[in-house]
Amino acid sequence: MIIVMKTNSTAAEIGAVIARVQDIGASPHPIYGAERTVVAVVGETRAFDPTAFKQMPGVERITSISAPFKLASRESHPDNTIIQLNDVRIGGPEIVIIAGPCSVESRSQLLETAHAVKEAGAHILRGGAFKPRSSPYSFQGLGLKGLEILAEAREIYGLHIVTEVMNSQAVPMVAEYADILQIGARNMQNYGLLHAVGRVQRPVLLKRGMMSSMEELLMSAEYILAGGNYKVMLCERGIRSFEKYTRNTFDLNAVPVLKQLSHLPVIADPSHATGRWDVVPAMARAAIAAGADGLMIEVHPHPSRALSDGPQSLKPQVFAELMQQLKRVAAAVDRTLELPTPVLQGDVR
Ligand code: PEP
Ligand code: MN
Repeated sequence: MIIVMKTNSTAAEIGAVIARVQDIGASPHPIYGAERTVVAVVGETRAFDPTAFKQMPGVERITSISAPFKLASRESHPDNTIIQLNDVRIGGPEIVIIAGPCSVESRSQLLETAHAVKEAGAHILRGGAFKPRSSPYSFQGLGLKGLEILAEAREIYGLHIVTEVMNSQAVPMVAEYADILQIGARNMQNYGLLHAVGRVQRPVLLKRGMMSSMEELLMSAEYILAGGNYKVMLCERGIRSFEKYTRNTFDLNAVPVLKQLSHLPVIADPSHATGRWDVVPAMARAAIAAGADGLMIEVHPHPSRALSDGPQSLKPQVFAELMQQLKRVAAAVDRTLELPTPVLQGDVR
């Protein structure tokens, strides 16, 4: 249910509506728009009597939300959600680029990568400190040491950092270091974890499960929003199919469909979606053309020596060239991607 307030409704009138929603045992989620405020009502709504609310001062009308994902739906929030991290806006006209290695392997590996992606124009540095690996014998990440290295890279390069949190107990620790908490594909339906990140005020990058529908992804986002954390971005990272030439099948459809269904920013991850560095640039360009708000791309200074996901990691030079292409694709679809002016090396006369 949505209670649409009049454009000139007062803070006191909005407050009274919120209090009444709480009185009937439901949860009010006020959404303050540029023009007007709406109060989304979710949870226990059996005692919700639309006519009683309609008569309250400042209320214009009551509408229902047909989608099962109430707070994530565009019906409840027609404007795009914009997540602001100091100078970086996610969900606005600017394209946001997240880049970095699959895993934080060492201080020198991360700092070298951070330097390269920053110089190429990336906004956010990625790197897993806690890795969800299919085999218990594979590299599991550096843990806390990895978080400390990420924080050092943020200090040096002024990049925001995103890293995965794998369980609810680790949320406070990871939230202390990371600017964005990543929920991996394997944990998209870990409801305890979704509840835990719903309670912290850190943006969340929620990756689509490898066998999950778009609706399931949006329902998982709903858990986080219902917990009170409205800073959620959705990430398409490929789904499993019968096709074997790529690691996953990049569901490019998800980009415009999620944008239509939801106000949340949509990030595309062509690295995990394809599993092949030689295919990543084409799919990165396609994702921007399809309307993605940003990309997550794995970059490694020496992919052949990477401890995870080497085959899909771009070398820094390939990433830098891709950024130039993305700038042009962004402009073609009325988006922007500002890149730093390259540092000229050698004799420039
Ligand atoms: C990752 O981003 O490194 C990762 C593990 O991704 P996903 O959860 O999409 O497999
Ligand atoms: Mn990876």
